Order: sequence, then structure tokens, then C-alpha cells
Amino acid sequence: MQRDSLKAWRASSHFTGANAPYIEELYEAYLDDPGSVSEEWHSIFAELPTNGVEADVAHTKIRDYFRETALDSNRSKKTTVDPELSEKQVRVLQMINAYRFRGHQAAKLDPLGLWDREPVAELDPSHHGLTDEDLGREFNTGSYAYGGETMKLSDLVGSLAKTYCGHIGAEYMHITNTDEKRWIQQRLETVLAQPRYDAEHKQRILAGLNAAEGLEKYLGAKFPGAKRFSLEGGDAMIPMMRELIYRSGEQGAKEVVIGMAHRGRLNMLVNVLGKKPGDLFDEFAGKHDEALGSGDVKYHQGFSSDFATPGGNVHLALAFNPSHLEIVAPVVMGSVRARMDRRNCETGKLVMPITIHGDSAIAGQGVVQETLNMSQTRGFHVGGAIRVVINNQVGFTTSNPRDTRSTEYCTDIAKMLQAPVFHVNADDPEAVALVAQIAVDYRYEFGRDVFIDLICYRRHGHNEADEPNATQPLMYQKIKKHPTPRKIYADRLIEQGVMSSEEVTEQINTYREQLDHGDCVVPEWRTMSEHSVDWSPYLGHDWDADWEHKEPLEELKRLGREIAEVPPSHKLQSRVAKIYKDREAMAAGDKPLDWGMAETLAYATLLEKQYRVRITGQDSGRGTFFHRHAVLHNQDNATTYMPLRHLKEDQGPIEIHDSVLSEAAVLAFEYGYATAEPSGLTMWEAQFGDFANGAQVVIDQFLSSGEQKWGRLCGLTMLLPHGYEGQGPEHSSARLERFLQLCANHNMQVCIPTTPAQVYHMIRRQTLRPMRRPLVVMSPKSLLRHPLAVSDLEELAHGTYQNVIGEVDELDPKGVNRVVFCSGKVYFDLLDKRRREGLTNVALVRVEQLYPFPAEEMSKVLEDYQHVTDFVWCQEEPQNQGAWYCSQHHFWQAIPSGANLSYAGREASAAPAVGYPSVHNKQQQALVNAALNLN
Ligand code: AMP
Repeated sequence: MQRDSLKAWRASSHFTGANAPYIEELYEAYLDDPGSVSEEWHSIFAELPTNGVEADVAHTKIRDYFRETALDSNRSKKTTVDPELSEKQVRVLQMINAYRFRGHQAAKLDPLGLWDREPVAELDPSHHGLTDEDLGREFNTGSYAYGGETMKLSDLVGSLAKTYCGHIGAEYMHITNTDEKRWIQQRLETVLAQPRYDAEHKQRILAGLNAAEGLEKYLGAKFPGAKRFSLEGGDAMIPMMRELIYRSGEQGAKEVVIGMAHRGRLNMLVNVLGKKPGDLFDEFAGKHDEALGSGDVKYHQGFSSDFATPGGNVHLALAFNPSHLEIVAPVVMGSVRARMDRRNCETGKLVMPITIHGDSAIAGQGVVQETLNMSQTRGFHVGGAIRVVINNQVGFTTSNPRDTRSTEYCTDIAKMLQAPVFHVNADDPEAVALVAQIAVDYRYEFGRDVFIDLICYRRHGHNEADEPNATQPLMYQKIKKHPTPRKIYADRLIEQGVMSSEEVTEQINTYREQLDHGDCVVPEWRTMSEHSVDWSPYLGHDWDADWEHKEPLEELKRLGREIAEVPPSHKLQSRVAKIYKDREAMAAGDKPLDWGMAETLAYATLLEKQYRVRITGQDSGRGTFFHRHAVLHNQDNATTYMPLRHLKEDQGPIEIHDSVLSEAAVLAFEYGYATAEPSGLTMWEAQFGDFANGAQVVIDQFLSSGEQKWGRLCGLTMLLPHGYEGQGPEHSSARLERFLQLCANHNMQVCIPTTPAQVYHMIRRQTLRPMRRPLVVMSPKSLLRHPLAVSDLEELAHGTYQNVIGEVDELDPKGVNRVVFCSGKVYFDLLDKRRREGLTNVALVRVEQLYPFPAEEMSKVLEDYQHVTDFVWCQEEPQNQGAWYCSQHHFWQAIPSGANLSYAGREASAAPAVGYPSVHNKQQQALVNAALNLN
């Protein structure tokens, strides 16, 4: 069959080897869509061996050529045929493709030369049926960007090997967008992936390596054995970072936000961000900022500075981060998004993120996938990120790739985004610089993520007290003898005559003297300009800070009408239409306010005063429980409309985004947003409260402790649906106990509002009070529609957030012999039962803020009950959960001395709730009866 088709083709073909672009065009059209070429060509291409090379897609440039060729009548004239040469031409094009696809597998990427890789047969011309004789022949090079239209095969092979098998291993053929692929080919192939830098540039690169090595040696000598997570082996990171920043400045960036784990962080702080070495030495010597609470180790510290580039000053912000590798990446993205929004920059061109990953961590940690998945979505995109892997080939003590991952490269996750990956040998800092420039340019050209896999090694153990030979004997024997990156490059520059050995020595000595002086060693460092947001209004304020409570009744009515207004052409789903009709009635005062209305009114009052509102979560547009409907979907054409965006011309901006199905990355993103932008409201809503445990790292490492560790304020609000409705162990509990257990030093607020008026005031308080601390809300589910959980407009206009709500029925306090404290939905069960039973001896007190505990408000409420000796805490959660263990010391303190406090609630349980509604109901009745003393 193959023979037949080829024979037939040869007999009828009127194309010669010089028509290779035409054949390539056809071939690529075939790869793109096998049905797009004639049957004759189809059978020819189908018979060609694929050589294990995946299908490429069509090349636009070649298609254009084809079109031109077709228009050019001279070209389509019949010419003499050399069928064998024509067939070889196709094979040459296949070989070019093979280098583009698989050249990286033969690239010299490992500085230690320890990689044992299978040879790639497809890179050998003979594999494509090309002979030694052919090596001397000219072939058309198709879309290959180097040289002319034709090239001698031997030259072509040589230049392909230089381009794709040198110190840069480019993986990009998985990208389906032809323009992107062509763009990368142009950048790499035209220069054979070998930059030609002038002497000044080379000296700058060496200065970076010199600084990287100089600092580590200095610290090693001055503080032997102290943990510093040395960069040594990956020294090229410093000149690479500087290159990335330079290039971003040239591209117009005004800010670069960086996230990284601890390896090389001290080096980054001193040699890129311009932290004074003297300050770092002080930290090594044990000095610390007394103003901070707990503080943190030096290799978790962030830093801010400005950096001069040819395109102007760029503000640098290194994010603080915990030891949990990779979790800082979404924090950085959130911070970038906040800065973009502040600068009204939708494309991300003014703010560039760089995240630095570990090789084992990037492959191992799921939050990487979550972050990548967010990167092009509407609510979370940042115009592309530069993602660098410091690939030292060891994860603490695990270095065998068979143990650290199931993929060829640690960066294979990049392919889910079709992001290009540039693997680069870190012992060739010029190749690293080239890759850095291409990466930034790619990000600016296409607005998408790009990866740099900086393949290096770790000269010492995981930290300086570690002994790497114990687990990596062969690797470390090699490392011991391996010259440092600075030495390798300095020798190269000396050999090239760019620098003399005296100049190299002088460079070393000068840097060491700078360290001795302790002053900034980054020549591009500049004092921070007034670029950033002013945090001072929020500093030094506490819970008692004043805020403007009131919004006049008439104004609320007007806003109520506006948020219920939808253009007639926007056809609502019938249940949604009913909710909006009800909202109209609520605005007119004809109906009591429900939760959704009060919450939406809170946003409206903030927007009206130009505050910014950002709400994300998996179902935040509609609300998991169908109560919010802030985003309305037209039933005729699926367009959306947000009444909150149409209040008035100069209102504040509002964004409500349904998020990707992630908790960790999305909550971390919002933390990053809220720590970079104090104004307005930043809110994350969990679909169900217990899903927040998927983001536990963010809650533990950032939200609850960030201010204590790093002095970074954060006003993020978390809405966590919570409540026992007989729905089973999942989705009943937002794990209140875990949040309360994290509460200390007034680090965050934990609130459980029970009425629409309360949610209205809570949201406004969080935004308007000049204090920025996280607000954790146990938000309701069934209460959203509970007939007793309603408010009227007066409560909104004249009230404020009540941390404690005393008895609301007209009970004579003298007749009360028991006071029940409770929080959340159970209050309505207690109230309902008490009313039905006609009890007048039990008073109900709602604690609407469990932390910081409102001791003053509570003592006011209890003034009337000083004679009572029987106090009860009632909760729906099992005894080992909920507020009982974490908050009872506050209740004990609040009750009169000598009085008793007892517990009414479910028994301790391993699961948060039972799975059977009948058991749930029985338990619920029992705990209500126990609280009301009805047993
Ligand atoms: P950045 O733009 O993140 O580099 O921050 C610039 C400066 O603003 C920092 O040096 C801090 O003084 C201040 N700042 C930034 N974020 C916060 C925050 N979350 N809390 C308090 N101050 C902050």
C-alpha cells in the first residue's frame, strides 16, 4: 500500500525539492486535519512513519506561503520531478519537527552531568532515511527560522542541535496556538538559542553570580552551622531574577510581586531586593523587631523596595511565606490582582508576578494545579506569571525522580495550560539570561504563564546543619569536585578577554567589603516611591475604633429600590423573579427584610460611598442556597446583569466571581488580595463551611497568624455556611472549634449573626471600621429563609452590630432563674420552643461575636440577671466541637460569682453530625429541652 501510493505520487507529482514549503504546508494541514488534504496526499502522509513524534499543527507562515504559491502562476508550472528527493524533503521537514519536539531530551541540561537519558533516535538523520550522502545536499528548511530557505543537511542538523540540544531545552510544541509556537521558534532558532551579549551585559551577569556566591560564603564563614538554606549551586537565580526585573521594566511593569520558599531567599533579599546585609547579620545575631508579635525566622521574611530598570523604576514586593511550599503562589497572584485593580490595569501589563518553586514541590503539591487552573479565569487572571523552578534535583533528602514524581520533568504540570517550559542548565548563566528575557517577552506578548526550569544542584544539605552524603553519596562526591557557577563563568569571560583575572578578583573583594560595611549591595535599589496604598489609616486601631454606623432610612429605601431593579429585557427565571419582586416590597417597607436583601443592601451602601467590593467563592453569584442572586442570568440569551453595578455613575467597583472549584488556592488568592488592598471589602464564601478545611494551610499559616508573624494586616471576610439541619456529617459544621482554637492576641473575629440586620451591620463594620483583621463568619443556611430571622429597615437605619443580643421577649428579669447563652440557628429553636411552652423563667442571650469575646456588652446584658445562679451554654455541635471548650472560660468570667455554668448540647462525637434525619431531630429536641430545663 505504501509503495503503491508513493509510486503513484512520484508518477504524478510535479513538485521538486524546492517546493518543500508547499509539501510542508500540505503535511501540516494534514496533521491539523487529515481530511483537509486530497486522498492522494492523505495516503502518502498516512504512510510516513511518525517516529514517535506527536502531531504538529499547521504553520500559518507556511500557509501564507502556500497561498502565495497558489497565486503565483509561474510556480504552479509543471517542472521536472525527482521523486526520491521530494520524499527526502518531507523527511527533512519531519526531522526539523523532531528536534522541535524532542530536542530537549538530548539537551545538556544537568550541570553535574549525572542524568542518564535514553538517546533520542528521531534526532538522527538516518532515522528518517537520510543518508551520509544526503548530508551534503541542500534541502528546503520549511519554517525553520535560521538561515535561508535552503540549507545543506549537515549544516541544518548542526544548527538544530545547537538550537534544541544545547544548554536550553525548550518544550513548547504541545502548544496548539500556531502564533505562539512560531514566536518561540523565531526567538530560539534565529540565534541558535545562543545569546550574544556585549561585555557590559556579561560583566553584569558575572556580578550577579559573584554576589550570590559571595553572600553565601560570607554567611557560612560568619555564622557557621546557622540555617540559611543556601542558594549555592543555583547561583544563577540571582542574575536571572535581575534579568527578569530589567526586562519587565522595559516591557512597562511598574510592580513585580515575588513568591518563593526558603532556598536562596536570604540571597534574594540582599542581592535583588536590596535588604541591607547589616540588617540580616543582626537577625543572625538574634536581634529582632520588638513591635512584632511572634515574629518569624529570617528565611520567611518578605521585603519591599524599588529597583531601577532601563524602563523606569519597578516596585518589588517579596511576599512573606510559611514553610509550606507552594502555598505562596496563589497569595502572590491575589496580591498582583489587587495591584492591577488599583491601577485599573486589566491586562496585567503593569504588574508582573514571579513565583519560584522547588522541583519536588511543584510536582508534588496540589495547590500548584489549583493556581494554574485559575490563571486564565475571569476572576483570577493576572496576565500570566513567570514560574521559575529552582531545580536542585533533591527534595530535602529524596532525589530519585522515581520517588518524587511520575512525570518526565518536574514541570510537566505546565502542559495543562499549554505553557512553554524552558529547561536551562544553570551553569550557563547566559543561557539563563536569554531564557529569562524570552519568558518575560512571552508573558507580555501572550498574557499567559511561562515556566523556567533552572536545573542546578544543592551544594550543601537541605540546610547547613544537614549531611547530604548520608542520602546522596554519588551526587555529593560529584558536587564536591564541581567548580562553582561563578568560577565557571569567570573563567569563560577571562578566556574571552572580557575581563582579566585581576578584575575578577577585585570584583570578589569589592563585594566582600560591601558586606563588611553592611549597606545595600544592589546598585539598582531605590527608596520606595509613593506608588503603593497607604496602610496608615488602619495601623494602631483596634475593635473599638469608630466607624460610621448609620445610613438614613430614605437612602436605604432608595437603594433598596435600585438593587431590585432589572431592565425589562432581562428575563429572569421565575423563582428569581419572585425574589426580586419581594425585594421591591421589602424596599417599600411592605415586607420584612430577609437575609439576601439585607446583605445586598450592605453592599449597595458601600458601593454608593465609592468603596470597592470583591466577592468570590464557588457559587457566590447566586449563593449556594439560592439567596443572593447578585448576578442575574437572562433566560432568553444567558447574558448576565448585576444590579449592584448600576447604582450610579461614580460608584465603587464591584466584582462577584464564581470561582474555580478550589478552596486552598482561591482562599490564598483572596488573602493575597486583601493583604495588598485594605480599602473596601474582600470576601470569600465557602460553598459549605466545612470545605474551608481544604484551605487549612491558608487559615493556619496566613490568616490567623500573618499579623503576628509578619505585621501584615488582612481584612478578609470568610463566609462559612454552618448549621445543623439534619443534612449529615458533611456540610453541617464549618468547624467553629478550629477557628476559636486559633484565636489569640485579637488576631481575628469570629461572628455568628442571626438576623438580616446583623449581617448588614457586620459587613459594613468590617469595611468601614479602620481596622483590618480577618472576619470569620458562621453564616446561615436555613436561617436564610427562617420566618423569625427577619428585620425591618429601621433596624438597618438606626442599629449597629450587636456583639451580644439580650432577651428580646418581654420577660420579667426577676422571674428568670436560668439564662441560656447560645450562638447561631439554635437560638430560634430555643425561642420557638420557649414560646410554645409559655416559659417565662428562662432568658435567652445570643453571643453574636465569639471572638474577641465582648465582655463589656455581655456584662451589660447580664446586669438584670445578677440573682441568677443557673447559666447554660447551649450548642448544636457535639460537645468536643463548637464553642464549648474554647469559649467557656469567657462565659465563666461573665456570670456572677458563685453561679454555675452547664452544657446543653450533643454528646462528644468523632463525626460532626449524624447521618440520619430522625436521629438528628431527636438529638435537636433533646438539647433544646435540656437547655430550657424541660426534661
Ligand atoms: P508592598 O506594596 O506590598 O511592597 O508594600 C509596601 C509597604 O506597604 C510595605 O513596606 C508596608 O509598609 C506596607 N504594607 C503592605 N502591605 C501591608 C499589610 N498587609 N499590612 C500592613 N502594611 C502593609
